[in-house]
Amino acid sequence: MGEGIFDLPVEKQIFYAVLGFSWTVYLWEAYLSYRQRRTYRSTTQVPEELWKIMDSETFEKSRLYQLDKSNFSFWSGLYSETEGTLILLLGGIPFLWDAAGSVMIRTGLGSEYEITQSLVFLTLATLFSAFTGLPWSVYNTFIIEEKHGFNQQTLGFFLKDTVKKFIVTQCILLPVTSLLLYIIKIGGDYFFIYAWLFTLAVSLVLVTIYADYIAPLFDKFAPLPEGELKTDIEDMSKSISFPLTKVYVVEGSKRSSHSNAYFYGFFKNKRIVLFDTLLEDYSPLNKSGEPQPEQPEREDTSDESKAKPKNKKGCNNSEILAVLGHELGHWKLGHMVKNIVISQMNSFLCFSLFAVLIGRKELFVAFGFNDSQPTLIGLMIIFQFIFSPYNEVLSFCLTVLSRRFEFQADAFARGMGKASELCSALIKLNKDNLGFPVADWLFSMWHYSHPPLLERLRALGSIKQD
Ligand SMILES: [Zn+2]
Repeated sequence: MGEGIFDLPVEKQIFYAVLGFSWTVYLWEAYLSYRQRRTYRSTTQVPEELWKIMDSETFEKSRLYQLDKSNFSFWSGLYSETEGTLILLLGGIPFLWDAAGSVMIRTGLGSEYEITQSLVFLTLATLFSAFTGLPWSVYNTFIIEEKHGFNQQTLGFFLKDTVKKFIVTQCILLPVTSLLLYIIKIGGDYFFIYAWLFTLAVSLVLVTIYADYIAPLFDKFAPLPEGELKTDIEDMSKSISFPLTKVYVVEGSKRSSHSNAYFYGFFKNKRIVLFDTLLEDYSPLNKSGEPQPEQPEREDTSDESKAKPKNKKGCNNSEILAVLGHELGHWKLGHMVKNIVISQMNSFLCFSLFAVLIGRKELFVAFGFNDSQPTLIGLMIIFQFIFSPYNEVLSFCLTVLSRRFEFQADAFARGMGKASELCSALIKLNKDNLGFPVADWLFSMWHYSHPPLLERLRALGSIKQD
């Protein structure tokens, strides 16, 4: 009883502070999700201001979908918090480190090969989390997404995909980690600058090769066929001097019927990628079997979405152009560059603090490393546990910033004269993806990287402010 946390040795204080903070964040987020579920449960009728944009059938469907998703994330969140706590309390990290050590001894290597032991440790740790995460991701894909009509994968495709992802991740993670550990080891007093430069270089290389060499391992990319849409996209890019080199369609429909669009590339070599599920004329979801009831007119930018047929997924050409207007707005307004600068400044700050903290033995003792201070373990403890309060604050600030950027990109598309097309695209995409248009204010403030649908429509001027 009488012994308070401040009477404990410093390493115990660190340990319990980390554990306590983790549960504080967990309980805070569980409370926010509870508030959001309360909103899903109580908002059973379409609110009046949404009458024009959502029918009651879609509203109910999206309500049930989001409720299922939220319940699922309650259980998966509880599981992962409990798992993380048990790993810390039972000394899972030093146990795995020693296990990696015994694997080494069996192959005839001693503990002086710290980098090799780190790689064995990392492989064991990623294997462990792949296996414990698998049932959750199977349940999410084949029960929840399936039930609500989004899943397009077979179990075979899913498992092959998971194995492929694991192998590709290891192929990148292991060499990068060993080089990073090596740089920290030989870098001297300014190792943190070299380590930061190295991670900067790695992220630039990954961004450069990702689309050409990594993404095609998982999905089919095909050039957008010649036609009106392609010409329109090229004209629009030219009008704002966007250095477009190629437009691709990715076969997202193989995985799920969720839709998206993005662009990538450095400097003068930009490509646009459209999900086939985004394109009304292209989506296999519109082609399967029965002819669609009542096809919409080609040029339907001005009519109300209520009149749209229920089963047709995706956007028409002018809506796709409006979505791209928004995406190109992100580029024109320098949002990518700003995000890269912020994340690199953050990474530099973290490496500098790491340099200050890595010599503190009590940090290692706190997590069960009494006589050795492996660098990889130091990286884990400091970046993941010690920085966690800072990481929470940073991620909240980035979420707020992201919402600002979204409004600015919307305003950019509006400036291109695409406000009404963007509105109807947002409404359609919200419907296709079963987004629920009502949110608890605290939940959305904490979690939403994009502003709620109604706020975006209001800002675009399609819904009158009261
Ligand atoms: Zn955006």
